[in-house]
Amino acid sequence: MSSIFLLISKKKCDIIKYNDLMEAKIELKIKVLGVSFDAVNKKEASAQILSAIQNKNEIPLTAVTPNPIMVMNSQNNEALFSALSSADLSLADGVGIISAAKRMGIPLPERVTGIDTAYSVLQKLAEVAGSVYLFGAKPGVAELAAEKLIDQFPSLNIVGTHHGYFDKDEEIISDIKQKSPDLLIVCLGSPRQEIWAHENKGKLSGVGVIMCLGGVLDVWSGNIKRAPSLFIKLHLEWLWRMLLEPKRMKELPKMLKFRILTGKSRQNQKSFK
Ligand code: UDP
Repeated sequence: MSSIFLLISKKKCDIIKYNDLMEAKIELKIKVLGVSFDAVNKKEASAQILSAIQNKNEIPLTAVTPNPIMVMNSQNNEALFSALSSADLSLADGVGIISAAKRMGIPLPERVTGIDTAYSVLQKLAEVAGSVYLFGAKPGVAELAAEKLIDQFPSLNIVGTHHGYFDKDEEIISDIKQKSPDLLIVCLGSPRQEIWAHENKGKLSGVGVIMCLGGVLDVWSGNIKRAPSLFIKLHLEWLWRMLLEPKRMKELPKMLKFRILTGKSRQNQKSFK
C-alpha cells in the first residue's frame, strides 16, 4: 500500500515540475480577428492543463481549440465569441491560425492540436490514476472511446461517459459534478461545446479542466480515422476531413474569407460588434 502511495507521490512531483516551468513563463496572448490565442508550445499547453488539474480552482479551467472556421463563425455569433474570449487557454489547433499569426508579425510557437494535447494529458493522468469524464458524440461512441483508452492506459480512471444528443442537461451536469473528474472532455461540435462549457463551468466546481475537443471521441473510438501522418505533416488535416465528410466543402468560402481578412493587416482585429 505504502509503495503504491510513494509511486503516486513521485509521479505527482513530475507534475509539480511542470508547474515550476509555467510559473517561470510570461503569458502571452495574441488575437486573430479578435479571438485570443495563447502563445504556448505543446509542452507548455499540457503543463498548464496539468497544473490546473493539480491546483483545482472553484471554477474549472476551460481550454478551446479555435480553427479559422470557428474564428469566422464567432464574428457574427456573440455567444461563441464570448465563450472563446473567456476561455482560459486557447490553443492554435489549425495551420490557418499559425499562418495568420505569422502574417501579423506575432508568430505563435507552433501548432498545438487539441487531440494530441489531450492525449498527452491523459498519459500523465494515468500515471497518477487521475480521472476523466467523456462527454459528447453519438450514443455509444464515448463508451467505445473509453474502452480503447483503457486498453492504452489501464490505470486511467474513466469515471463517466455521456453522449452529446440531449435536450436537458441538468442530470448530465449533476452526474459530472458528482464524479468531479480531473479532466472533462466535451465533444459536442462547435459552437455548442464552447458555449456549453462557458455557460456551465460555474456549476462544475470539483472538475479540474474542461477541454472542448470537437470530433476527438469519434477518433479515439476508432469510428473516424485521423488523417494519415503525411497529411498531418503537410498541414492538410482540414483537406482530409473534407474528403471524409464532403459536406464540409461548404466551409471553403469561409476559409477563403478568413485568409483574406487576415491577409494584410498586422492588427486584424475583431470585426464583431
Ligand atoms: N455532436 C454532439 N452533439 C451535437 C452535435 C454534435 O455530440 O448536438 C458531436 C458529433 O457527434 C461529433 C462531435 O460532436 O462527435 C463533433 O462534431 P463535428 O465534427 O460536426 O464538429 P467539429 O469538429 O466540426 O466542431
